[in-house]
Amino acid sequence: MKISQFTDVGFSAELHCVNSIITVCTTTVTTSVRARAPAASITLSHTPSPSPRIRSIFVRTITRKREYPRHLIPEETICQRCPGIVPLSDPFLITTKGKILTNCRIIEDISTYCKHCPECGMLYRYQEWNEGLHNYNDQIILDLALCLTLRNLLQVHTAVSRAVEYLELTTGVKFPPSDTVLHGYLHFEALTAHEYKYSCVTCGDNPPVVVMDLHKNGVFHSLNDIEGPPTNFNGEVDVERFWEALSMEMVGRGFVTSSRNNPFTVTPSYHFWAPWIGPTTRHSKVVLNTEFKKVHQPKTKKEVAEICVSEGRLRDELFKQKVPILRKLCRECGLDSEGSRSNLLVRLSNGMKSRETYDKIHEKIWAASGGWAVIMCPCGIVYSVKCNLRAESPSDFTDMLLSWTHMPNVVLYDFAQSLATHTNLRVPEAMPFRPHEGCLMAPTAENIKLAQEGKLRVSLPWLERMEVKENANGHPITGSSDHYALYDRCHEDNIKDGAGG
Ligand SMILES: [Zn+2]
Ligand SMILES: [Zn+2]
Repeated sequence: MKISQFTDVGFSAELHCVNSIITVCTTTVTTSVRARAPAASITLSHTPSPSPRIRSIFVRTITRKREYPRHLIPEETICQRCPGIVPLSDPFLITTKGKILTNCRIIEDISTYCKHCPECGMLYRYQEWNEGLHNYNDQIILDLALCLTLRNLLQVHTAVSRAVEYLELTTGVKFPPSDTVLHGYLHFEALTAHEYKYSCVTCGDNPPVVVMDLHKNGVFHSLNDIEGPPTNFNGEVDVERFWEALSMEMVGRGFVTSSRNNPFTVTPSYHFWAPWIGPTTRHSKVVLNTEFKKVHQPKTKKEVAEICVSEGRLRDELFKQKVPILRKLCRECGLDSEGSRSNLLVRLSNGMKSRETYDKIHEKIWAASGGWAVIMCPCGIVYSVKCNLRAESPSDFTDMLLSWTHMPNVVLYDFAQSLATHTNLRVPEAMPFRPHEGCLMAPTAENIKLAQEGKLRVSLPWLERMEVKENANGHPITGSSDHYALYDRCHEDNIKDGAGG
């Protein structure tokens, strides 16, 4: 793996993965290394790993190992970059104060070593996964069992900070700050082979029915100063390049003393920010992100009124907030900020009856940040995910749907009508949501009355059995080219017009 697009960041760094060994070469590091490295070379047996990234099976088999070496020396003996056989330097010591973090203890006073190539200056560091260890930054080393524990805990919705609390309680030992452990773990994942298919085994690559939702946890709170995109930016972003850049940011953290010095840092920007859509679901690696239009294009009144957040929805979000945020909100709304969490929530909930307090809470909780926009199949498997830089708009979901090879026939969303209108305006020649602009029936007075009485029946037989008639635009599973945007039962109140589901 050679990343060349970042070499113009003033760090002149090259990162390579050669036979499971990460090597980093920088002008500054190389100079100081040359001054310190002994002249003689050493010979150690070199066993190349089958893949530059760790394979999961490999990881499982080696996690049983519990005894670790106290001197961590890179295995390479010859340079992987120079032509011919160029022996590497003797190992030279980086620290004697390294720590191996494990599930049951911390092993202190570990020595870590480096080698360098006398010809090209390439620095070789310890990254020997076959010894059951993942070297994060030559100071903190995680054993692979701990890495897998953190992964599995995340998969059952337990944050790394909580895992660290648990480890400290269990072992009675003070662990490094949870952010350091998190970065060490992410460093491990960034160097692990993942496919990121984002596809359900039951629904296949092109589900005909999807559910769209927004998750407000883990949102940005201070993104007011994102620069506008270049004038020629058309909203197309390379999904693979973006996510590989994020991986490189995680890998780069292991080589620098602080995130501020990381030359691979990806700063939020409108023109280099992409959703993830599985490779077999998206039509190409170039996908849409038109978020810059949320702020850099004037909105019509209709668009401003598009999303009307119900009081209940806002209250749901309010109840997810932590105490310091609730206290701050109370102060900002001129309410008493003392007392327990439930006291604060009751005060804010009652306060929401006043327009002024409602607007304040809306601004702080809902509109300040974007959250994660997610498209799932009915089984709950995520097909597309995007971290919004700005508050949610149907355009976030339109971007993702228009990046799919086959748009689903039925889309369930809290703001279905707005989604259908926005999408049809974006592609007026195709009008993706039709018939009836995405409604199940024409919004006639008679149909609306029947719907209100619960007597309206609509049949979509192709959901059960594929439509047989020839239809070039038909969905590969249903055969139908109809596209409906529907509400779930909880959000039927959001309907302002039409006879949506
Ligand atoms: Zn070399
Ligand atoms: Zn599914």
